[in-house]
Amino acid sequence: MSEIKATNIHWHEGNLTRQERWEALKCRGATVWFTGLSACGKSTIASALEQVLVQSGVPCYRLDGDNIRFGLNKNLGFSAEDRAENIRRIGEVAKLFADAGHITLTSFISPYRADRDAARKVHEEADLPFIEVFVDTPLEVCEQRDPKGLYKKARAGEIKGFTGIDDPYEAPENPELVLKTEGKSVDACVQEVIDLLQQRGLVVR
Ligand code: ADP
Repeated sequence: MSEIKATNIHWHEGNLTRQERWEALKCRGATVWFTGLSACGKSTIASALEQVLVQSGVPCYRLDGDNIRFGLNKNLGFSAEDRAENIRRIGEVAKLFADAGHITLTSFISPYRADRDAARKVHEEADLPFIEVFVDTPLEVCEQRDPKGLYKKARAGEIKGFTGIDDPYEAPENPELVLKTEGKSVDACVQEVIDLLQQRGLVVR
């Protein structure tokens, strides 16, 4: 669903360039896209990172998998088609937040490479940085953590099409960062992301 349905629509340029906005607001936008199995640590790391960045004065906003399904994506389930549409919308929303000058954190399993690549493309075409972070926690560890009891339900056959159990997870081939969480503190994981953002000049404070 990437073609435009409407006809007779015209792009209306604003009175400000992106650069003028970012300079006036002293910010810089980028999307940090966390991907990985359920319970690998995406939401925990993104929440902690958001807190550190906002408290140091960096505009940052988190789009979280389950949260978005309560509102914007409440009409989508977990079929391959709905997962693709879920990620397409998040890619577009993240792009808007990044354009507005926020470090935008997305924490979605986003199991299919093609969907993540489409989100990357949307950013690249808009000349916005897209940082893919593969939260690489082994399935056995995720299953042991199981903070929401979802693996237990999936193993019992109560949830169908659960990523890693009876639905595939396609690991990124060239992510900007591979974050191994096993045996590591949340703070250490957050620091790895901050280090990368600083190296790339996306966070200066
Ligand atoms: P996801 O958003 O990927 O589904 P969550 O963040 O909801 O995962 O859950 C991850 C679980 O793993 C939490 O219970 C968290 O406390 C635990 N955990 C242990 N070590 C780490 C770590 N280094 N980074 C992130 N989470 C960790």
